[in-house]
Amino acid sequence: MPATEAVAAPRRLEWLTATVTDVIVETPRVKSLVQDVPRWPGHRPGQHVDVRLTGEDGYQAQRSYSIASAPEAAHLTLTVERIEEGEVSPYLAGEVRPGDQFELRGPIGGYFVWTVAAQGPLFLIAGGSGIVPLMAMLRHRAAASVAVPARLIYSSRTFGDIIYRDELDRLMARRDGLEIVHTLTRSQPAGWSGGMRRIDREMVASAGFPSSQRPRTFICGPTQLVEYAASTLQELGHEASLIKTERFGPTGGVG
Ligand SMILES: Cc1cc2nc3c(=O)[nH]c(=O)nc-3n(C[C@H](O)[C@H](O)[C@H](O)COP(=O)(O)OP(=O)(O)OC[C@H]3O[C@@H](n4cnc5c(N)ncnc54)[C@H](O)[C@@H]3O)c2cc1C
Repeated sequence: MPATEAVAAPRRLEWLTATVTDVIVETPRVKSLVQDVPRWPGHRPGQHVDVRLTGEDGYQAQRSYSIASAPEAAHLTLTVERIEEGEVSPYLAGEVRPGDQFELRGPIGGYFVWTVAAQGPLFLIAGGSGIVPLMAMLRHRAAASVAVPARLIYSSRTFGDIIYRDELDRLMARRDGLEIVHTLTRSQPAGWSGGMRRIDREMVASAGFPSSQRPRTFICGPTQLVEYAASTLQELGHEASLIKTERFGPTGGVG
């Protein structure tokens, strides 16, 4: 494994205090938390943090959240989808206000990471909130002003569930080699010209890069989507070592 892809050497990560400076409503179920984190050591696109909440009675709950912001950004941003009956996400995506504080530690993970130094083409496949670490990669690509060819297939339930919709439109409008295919699995607005079904073999083959171009591929979302997309790409001749996956939740999720 090349050194740049090696899993980060074990080190003691300290818990840092994050102060929320802004809360952005992304969709009815998803919010982005923009934070100030003193002593934040920096990160690479694709990495995540552990968030730790402590109740008044001392009870603690801890969950992983991908970093949505580019390393170049002034603030650290997490984007959280509210999972009904969840312990942590309803608080982060519902209750948190500017000025609130919580603990986090990171950055964590050295495998599901892409920087412009790794070049491309860059092929991204996301389902639901699985877009978050991939957005950090696209924001980094834009901030670095490189024209690495990049393609994103993004599956959402409905038009209103598309996270970062306007920003994705703006990134594609730069015409710098990024192409985005949206697919909506539950309902589509009138005149919708994108996909109208779950990500399938035909979509992956037509919207992605041919295996001969050896795209660096990152797939993130619900387990079922991730496993399907990764095995389909291998059937299409893509090298397993170039396909990196991250699973967010235990269920089939976006369908
Ligand atoms: C590396 C990594 C990065 C992650 N990044 C993000 C991120 O950027 N944004 C984000 O919103 N989430 C992310 N997650 C998921 C996150 O860690 C939590 O699992 C999620 O917020 C649910 O936590 P909870 O405490 O609300 O639910 P819990 O109390 O843990 O679970 C409640 C119920 O919901 C189910 N459930 C848990 N997670 C999901 C899910 N994702 N989809 C459907 N059902 C679920 C559980 O099985 C359980 O039945 C990431 C997970 C990992 C492992």
